Amino acid sequence: MYQDKIIVNYESKPAYSILLKKDFTGLKEALLNLGLQNRRFLVITDSNVEKIYLKECMDLIGPISRGIYSFTFEAGENSKNLETVKLVYNKLIAKKFDRNDIILALGGGVTGDLAGFVASTYLRGIDFIQIPTTLLAMADSSIGGKTGVDFMAYKNMIGAFHQPKLVYMNLSSLKTLPKREFNAGISEIIKHGLIKDADFYKWLQDNITNIQSLDYETLKQMVYRSCMIKKKVVEEDPKEKGDRALLNFGHTIGHAIEKLMDFQLLHGECVAVGMICAAYISNKRGFISNDELECIYKIIEAFNLPTSIKDLSSEEIYHVTRLDKKMESDKIKFIYLESIGRAIIDTSVSKDEMIEAINYVQN
Ligand code: ADP
Ligand code: ZN
Repeated sequence: MYQDKIIVNYESKPAYSILLKKDFTGLKEALLNLGLQNRRFLVITDSNVEKIYLKECMDLIGPISRGIYSFTFEAGENSKNLETVKLVYNKLIAKKFDRNDIILALGGGVTGDLAGFVASTYLRGIDFIQIPTTLLAMADSSIGGKTGVDFMAYKNMIGAFHQPKLVYMNLSSLKTLPKREFNAGISEIIKHGLIKDADFYKWLQDNITNIQSLDYETLKQMVYRSCMIKKKVVEEDPKEKGDRALLNFGHTIGHAIEKLMDFQLLHGECVAVGMICAAYISNKRGFISNDELECIYKIIEAFNLPTSIKDLSSEEIYHVTRLDKKMESDKIKFIYLESIGRAIIDTSVSKDEMIEAINYVQN
């Protein structure tokens, strides 16, 4: 029922395809269909993904390329910085990469952000292909063209918009992904349902077991529907001037927790707690019922995502939300639910409401 291809538009024109596949074997054909043969490739990957998937991908692309190289960095958010970018530029220059050559990101969101940033800046921009291997990258971060690196203590502070030429997903690569990383990806998928699609949210509730057991058709449907939601939002607002901000549901408080925990919790885990806080505010303002709030809590719990946060004071968390770069003229653009499947942006959420919501996840 669900196709294995999504076409993403940029500025109202078809820009690139996302392919949802069971293995890597279609990669060669996908590149040939785009006329990307006889080019040189630099595959950027991290130290974990390298061990599992690099050789297979290089072997598939090698024969149609004019040369293929790889660059591996130490896995983890700590590598997502300008030092790593510099090392990649050095490699590109040493290998004399020019505007016809291609960067390929093989890995999770960290790899995609970093490799995309290199592709967007090297020689003022070269072609870029994404092979996301984490659920977060497949269902969320590989769509929308955001690339970037962290700078000092600031996440994604330096970056650019750069659309890929192709996103190729091998859903089977999720089998080797640590369960904790998988569940963190689910958090953003739940978010997509909550902000835009009540049917999809209901479907997630009904399919928890099949999702957890990595049933292929279930995963495909889940990733497909999640990508379609994100695609629609970013197509309508590519540069985040309006409704794209709805994707920040759960992120105002989530980011603050992430920062205060010194990145010990995964992004998706912090977003899970942040979504409960935002849902609590929706409930207090009379938009969603007690039952609906409890359901959100339950689905987050069912995926082993955190539902509470200890060791941080509410004041402290609130204070950090004030430093978020997504503020507009000193007001926090808070996102909460008007109903399940419908989110709104509101700048009137008060300090007291936020503190009360944070207290709710501390019990
Ligand atoms: P995210 O995708 O959540 O932004 P990362 O890119 O850092 O985060 O990926 C999360 C972790 O999972 C990293 O340690 C990475 O090396 C590892 N990883 C990514 N994809 C896979 C995979 N398919 N199998 C095993 N480990 C993977
Ligand atoms: Zn997020």
